[in-house]
Amino acid sequence: MKLNIKRIIILFAVSFVFSLLSGCLPEDSTGEEEAVAGSTNREPISKEDDKGNKENEDVEDKMDLEKCFGLSAGNKKVEEIIINKTKLVILKGDITKLQVDAIVNAANERLQGGGGVDGAIGKAAGHEIYAECKAILDERKITALPTGEAVVTSAGKLEGVKHIIHTPGPRWTQIEDKELAAKLLKNSYVNSLKLAKEKNCETVAFPSISTGVFAYPLDQAADIAISNTVNMVKDGEYTPSMVIFILFGDKEVDTYTAAFAKIKNN
Ligand code: ADP
Repeated sequence: MKLNIKRIIILFAVSFVFSLLSGCLPEDSTGEEEAVAGSTNREPISKEDDKGNKENEDVEDKMDLEKCFGLSAGNKKVEEIIINKTKLVILKGDITKLQVDAIVNAANERLQGGGGVDGAIGKAAGHEIYAECKAILDERKITALPTGEAVVTSAGKLEGVKHIIHTPGPRWTQIEDKELAAKLLKNSYVNSLKLAKEKNCETVAFPSISTGVFAYPLDQAADIAISNTVNMVKDGEYTPSMVIFILFGDKEVDTYTAAFAKIKNN
């Protein structure tokens, strides 16, 4: 009996020491293999990235560019440049097909919906975004947002988008002082980007503000859009992963591509 108790105590002691030791050992090798396999099996998001600039590799690794750009919904990538680690992209297509942190709406001053890109965004996001706009205007005790200012709402029903930034650009025929018109259009871009920064957006998309119903000359508007965005990025004032300019027609695409070329050649 005495011998048995001794044996049991020894057995306990041995198993206790053994369990202590195994707790200090590294994770078993199967788990480790799985983790490595997970990372190496990841598909490269775009072949172009492999050949292209390595600076943005980390950011693009985390993004599904096909979804982000809405490629399967018919959007097309036209051009890109990278400045200060921010990728500036020209896409052809429909802004409501993008999956980005923020899209910008070329709104009118009353922020209650309209035609063109505003109509398309309202249709896709639902009219609750205009109710949010109304609440913002009411709070400020105004009925119209001054040209060039910007406000932010939710993205309503738009899946894959977090925020909609609404900005009324200048109406070309109603502003005689064309320098003022240019300043107001610049404000639309700069104020929208400031709001996007405030909301920690890594991906932002712009339509061609003011160049539809508001009739701003396309070439001048494209230069203002691109140069002011580039300046903010270059200065390090706001360096998101990506700013997209998404254009509906061939003429807009060609004009914005020409504006991009000027930046590239500088
Ligand atoms: P604005 O009143 O500021 O001139 P518009 O909506 O009339 O704004 O036009 C701005 C630009 O948006 C035009 O170039 C127009 O072709 C374009 N646009 C219209 N619908 C869309 C859309 N769904 N996605 C992207 N751009 C669009």
